[in-house]
Amino acid sequence: MGEQPAQPGVLYVVATPIGNLRDVSLRALDVLRSADRIAAEDTRVTQGLLAAYGITRPLTALNEHNEVAVTPRLIARLLAGESLALVSDAGTPGLSDPGAHLVRAARAAGAPVVPIPGPSAAVTALSVAGITAPHWLFYGFLPPKAAARRQTLQALAALPFHLVFYEAPHRILDCVADLADVLGPGRELILARELTKRFEQVACLRLGEAQDWLTADTDRQRGEFVLIVAGAQPTARSESTNARQVLATLLEELPASQAARLAAKLTGIKRAELYALALDLKPEAGDQP
Ligand code: SAM
Repeated sequence: MGEQPAQPGVLYVVATPIGNLRDVSLRALDVLRSADRIAAEDTRVTQGLLAAYGITRPLTALNEHNEVAVTPRLIARLLAGESLALVSDAGTPGLSDPGAHLVRAARAAGAPVVPIPGPSAAVTALSVAGITAPHWLFYGFLPPKAAARRQTLQALAALPFHLVFYEAPHRILDCVADLADVLGPGRELILARELTKRFEQVACLRLGEAQDWLTADTDRQRGEFVLIVAGAQPTARSESTNARQVLATLLEELPASQAARLAAKLTGIKRAELYALALDLKPEAGDQP
């Protein structure tokens, strides 16, 4: 099959490698070589990829800080017939990365938007996770601050799907501590770091073991992480019916957090699960931020 160069007036959303530069697709190279312009999250990072393949094209920085401001200029170029490739630093643009604003604006302006698929850290980690469950939920980054992170995890705790998180190295220890605390130490964790890179590592642990695993060798705290956490086990029917009744009664008098705490003592079911159930039963009983 021959080369497929960029066409006039088209926005291409181009996935790029998440580490190993040879993971770029032939089609991505066709488009990057021929596009009139490349919009890049960090032009220096993209220069590295382009240099590796001997490509020189005009670059425009498009990042989370300037995306709204530069989009109208890029749309004007598209409408004037230029082809445009959008890339982020690594992986698929728009996925925990900038790009969605430009994509929407291009679509609204009537310009074709064409995906050039390729690597994404979440899917790469899932491919080697060996999970047999058919469903998973991509969450991306949890909030950086502990209180908000724990509150978010409480809202996710009762979901029966594997949860996929991105995490930065400077927060990895705090993050796994909160995961174990809020979701319980027994859930399985697939910790995938530095995927496709020299120090790639995929470990299968229990949440309660993760902190020790990370501190056993400080090198394990370096690099980029995808965390895949098993979903909640479905609660036995009779247990959950009983919990519902207990919670519903407590919620008549108490806010969700207190009702969940007491119901956990009475039923033996995890407080986080009961808190999520309490919010299902009575959303207005949630704690005020
Ligand atoms: N758009 C990208 C994608 O499609 O995967 C994600 C960009 S997001 C800003 C960066 C995060 O992705 C990192 O903090 C890390 O959680 C994850 N990530 C990126 N590259 C990775 C790698 N090689 N190994 C493990 N995780 C990675």
